Amino acid sequence: MTIDIKIEKTTSPKTKPETKGLVFGSKFTDHMFILDYDHGQGWHDPRIVPYQNISMDPAAKVFHYGQTIFEGLKAYLTEDGRILMFRPTKNIERLNLSNERLSIPEIDPELALEALRQLVLIDKEWIPEGEGTSLYIRPFVIATEAALGVAPSLQYKFMIILSPVAAYYAEGINPVKIYVESKYVRAVPGGVGTAKTAGNYAAGLKAQEGATELGYSQVMWLDGVHRKYIEEVGSMNVFFKIDGTVVTPALNGSILHGITRDSIIQLLKHWEIPVEERQLSIDELEEASRSGKLEEAFGTGTAAVISPIGELNWQGEKLTINEGKTGELSAKLYETLTGIQKGAIEDPFGWTL
Ligand code: PMP
Repeated sequence: MTIDIKIEKTTSPKTKPETKGLVFGSKFTDHMFILDYDHGQGWHDPRIVPYQNISMDPAAKVFHYGQTIFEGLKAYLTEDGRILMFRPTKNIERLNLSNERLSIPEIDPELALEALRQLVLIDKEWIPEGEGTSLYIRPFVIATEAALGVAPSLQYKFMIILSPVAAYYAEGINPVKIYVESKYVRAVPGGVGTAKTAGNYAAGLKAQEGATELGYSQVMWLDGVHRKYIEEVGSMNVFFKIDGTVVTPALNGSILHGITRDSIIQLLKHWEIPVEERQLSIDELEEASRSGKLEEAFGTGTAAVISPIGELNWQGEKLTINEGKTGELSAKLYETLTGIQKGAIEDPFGWTL
């Protein structure tokens, strides 16, 4: 199948920013991808156009009922000048899972991949070169039908925008302090926690603000029913090394299926390090910490890849992990995964495209 994407190149390219000190998601490249959906016609008119504002009716459903989803992935420039995307087909798979949950029509995965490829290629000069840098890719869908009835929209736009990003760790991989949230919850089984939809992030801001005020960088979410099982950390999945075994909460219907999470599990299995996906309570973690068995903890996600956790605050009690330092396993996972992403280490899994 040939996929015909119409291309209109910019006649006024922007000045590229200095990568160093660049704030995440603050600068955008010269082009963007757009695909329209109309009821009866399906998805149509794939095109790459100069990056620009879009004009929408104030009654567009996305503004009122939040029928929208997004993705996040990265493209990297290797030392020998190749462009690599990390597991883009997994992001497209998750994009369609989110679409399904939000009653948004499925997007052809081949078209989505071709759109990613062509857009990144057109703006390849924007991929930063330095260590730890990348081009962040943000695909998203919005419901554009101008109608206030609560029903699935009859019109949508699928767009992709690109943003150059600086190294996440300016001064080397660094542990963070995490506040275990006991008042607010992120998601419940049967809800939309497994979808990457805007409302999940808006609903998380309040708890994040509280944690920031107390000097913590993120919250750790507990499950919404029992308020005792660990789910995620901010917008990352979370892993703990307890007495030699790596444990991560099982995908239970309210946790996002992180692609970094999946990659870490595969890497650990490849290295023959015991890894378990299961329910894990805050009480078990507290007990493991008391008995000295909580060896390491880290969050995982596209932005930071690995974010070691040096302290957990659970109802005022401070659990220090690995003396607040980056653990050996966290460092090894970080080096390996970022090495594969940048094409510096051989990719035995076929993850980079
Ligand atoms: N959980 C949430 C809520 C997230 O938003 C993200 C970021 N996409 C993750 C986990 C990590 O997912 P990934 O490894 O695919 O970036």
